[in-house]
Amino acid sequence: MPRLEIDINKIKHNAVVLKELFAAKGISVTAVIKGVTGSPEIAQAIVECGISTIAVSLIQDIKKMKESGVKAEFLLTRLPMHSEAAKVVRYADISLNSEISTIKLLSEHSLKLGKRHKVVVMIELGDLREGVLPEDADLIVDQILLLKGVELYGIGANLACFGGVKPSEDKMIELSQTADHLEEKYKIKLPMISGGNSANYEWFLSTNTIGNINNLRIGEAILLGRETLHRNKIPKLYTDAFTLICEVIESKVKPSVPYGEICQNAFGDIPEFTDIGAINRVIIGIGEQDINTKAVTPRIHAEVIGASSDHLILHSENPIEVGCEIEFDITYSALLRLSISPYVNKVFV
Ligand SMILES: *Cc1c(COP(=O)(O)O)cnc(C)c1O
Repeated sequence: MPRLEIDINKIKHNAVVLKELFAAKGISVTAVIKGVTGSPEIAQAIVECGISTIAVSLIQDIKKMKESGVKAEFLLTRLPMHSEAAKVVRYADISLNSEISTIKLLSEHSLKLGKRHKVVVMIELGDLREGVLPEDADLIVDQILLLKGVELYGIGANLACFGGVKPSEDKMIELSQTADHLEEKYKIKLPMISGGNSANYEWFLSTNTIGNINNLRIGEAILLGRETLHRNKIPKLYTDAFTLICEVIESKVKPSVPYGEICQNAFGDIPEFTDIGAINRVIIGIGEQDINTKAVTPRIHAEVIGASSDHLILHSENPIEVGCEIEFDITYSALLRLSISPYVNKVFV
């Protein structure tokens, strides 16, 4: 306790439904499992669904999956650091990139291993996280094509991550046209034109012009069954493949408002509460150290009213006994923290 129950069949179901959906318009799925720190069990299950490229943001997670015997093509989602270039080419097959100095290092290290590392150049389309500006794409491609240790494997874009910018029809056409331009100008074929992430679901459903986009990197939709522009459930997918289960450590009827002289709380905030009289206050043995408390929802009639680093406080409609187990739905940020925490047991059901 606490434990994270993982229903691997629900994840497999989600992976298969999405793979088939996107394949209908010629788009392959790269499964992004950084949200579960590259769990080898989950990676293996997804590979068994016929998705052959697995992506994470940390090289350590690729190493872990390989050492556990997962056979897949591995893609690194976070731009490589100079200091990890040697490890990147050793463990990852493909990496997303935007800096020529880094790509040069990847090439050098790759040559030493007698390999050719695949590089996908990220194009900035307005979300303002990673990527070269579209007008600078030629500049970086000119230089990549001179390097012997890397293969220009494609281009990609990432939206709705930092700036919350929607992957619209216009943005996807811009990416597609950038790929056309590069293929024509340099007489090359780009095997991967990767349009985005789970936020591209709406675009995919509504567009008539996929253009030459042939890949999406999908994480949250596989793991939690939601698109990420509005966090709507995707039809036919499970949103409850993960269940957080924790134990009640105190349960009492107490006032709804703290009493005494109010100063700062554990996190340096001065909290405010509305007086609704005495309520069932239930304390759960988990806290901000292992979850983002805004990112968990109890499956009983109760509301999260706050947390400190190791206590989570609920207002429950009904009294609950100490020692009871409470189940919670979780969002992506809670999933990430729970997955990383050594204090939370992961149980496959
Ligand atoms: C995390 C990440 C993804 C996956 O995003 P989801 O919203 O989970 O589908 C895709 N691409 C990049 C570059 C990422 O960092």
